[in-house]
Amino acid sequence: MSVVRLEHLTKVFAGGTKAVDDLSLMIGDGEFLVLVGPSGCGKSTVLRMIAGLEEVSSGDVLIDGENVTNWAPKERDIAMVFQNYALYPHMTVRDNMGFALRLRHTDKAELRKNVNATAELLGLGELLDRRPAALSGGQRQRVAMGRAMVRRPRVFLLDEPLSNLDAKLRVSMRAELARLHQRYEVTTVYVTHDQVEAMTLGDRIAVLDKGRLQQVGSPDELYQAPANKFVAGFMGSPSMNFATVQLRGDEDRTTVMLAGRELEVPDAIRRHPALVRYLGSIVVMGLRPASFAVATQPVAGTLPVVPLGVESLGDEKHVLFRLPANGADAAAPGDVPVAVDDVAATELWTAKVGQRAQLAIGRPVPLTVDLSTAYFFDPDTGEAVP
Ligand code: ATP
Repeated sequence: MSVVRLEHLTKVFAGGTKAVDDLSLMIGDGEFLVLVGPSGCGKSTVLRMIAGLEEVSSGDVLIDGENVTNWAPKERDIAMVFQNYALYPHMTVRDNMGFALRLRHTDKAELRKNVNATAELLGLGELLDRRPAALSGGQRQRVAMGRAMVRRPRVFLLDEPLSNLDAKLRVSMRAELARLHQRYEVTTVYVTHDQVEAMTLGDRIAVLDKGRLQQVGSPDELYQAPANKFVAGFMGSPSMNFATVQLRGDEDRTTVMLAGRELEVPDAIRRHPALVRYLGSIVVMGLRPASFAVATQPVAGTLPVVPLGVESLGDEKHVLFRLPANGADAAAPGDVPVAVDDVAATELWTAKVGQRAQLAIGRPVPLTVDLSTAYFFDPDTGEAVP
């Protein structure tokens, strides 16, 4: 049993930076919780406070109901894997992996058995006599994992453990981590700024921004029902697009104006009581890149868009564009390329369309928008509306 509970955890650094602000969070027994957020949001500081490597300004860390806030790191029975692996360069893989057990004066035969079994599991059996300098990045990463695993800790803390690996290795190590966790079921807190890693690894994900918890939930919950604009913009790749629009009309017919086009809000969301309260008001509308499609021809309700960039990803294409200002028809559909500079300067949007779409930078293309998949947020608080 290893349940980690953070209660009103706060960290203010000497210079006055509030890195973590009143964080309360429970990590269940055997759970894999991913702590995600942009650079500087306080993820590493949370992890270091759980490990006991950073003093807590206020609040508590509890493990299995016991308040460990003032315990030394080695008393907590926690293993941490760092981004830079922190292996001892002068020791072999075997000695690196057995280090913590030797410190505990574990019986030699027991130590050897434990190190060998973990090395086999991680595919390091052949490398036990090498030193870190003679290993690849992925192998070093596995040694760092192995060194933490042989201790059979109560809690596993991982701080961006894959960020030094190339893209392909990252994907395979991600799968390996998931497999290891399934097998050992050690309570794990995993820090990353990569939302794809968070979505694929986490049983639950906790999103942090500026030291404050924004939302905690399953990957699906966070993606489907983000609590606010920050979470909506952070989860999903490419990111959600946002426009500030006025909700016009009434409960029977509600529309928004986007790039000079009147778009009808579909029945299913228009009548939602929370949204009805915003009729006549300004809201922030969020559209995921997959909410767009290329229309065969420009008709009422299609957006006139001039691609500023086209990225082909094999089975899909990403179109980068700026939304023309309301009323402006900067990207009059037609076959004539227009100067990219003519497009109204707004945020860069991304549409995800089929691989067959014929697209070129500067050549106008009509895009349909599926408003049934739109999200709405309060313009002042950023809280999700329905
Ligand atoms: P990254 O993803 O870039 O590693 P992070 O989310 O892990 O970032 P932290 O390293 O926890 O963020 O830092 C949170 C905030 O605290 C940042 O503003 C950082 O500059 C500040 N900070 C971190 N360590 C210290 C320190 N020792 N003294 C003062 N400020 C610090």
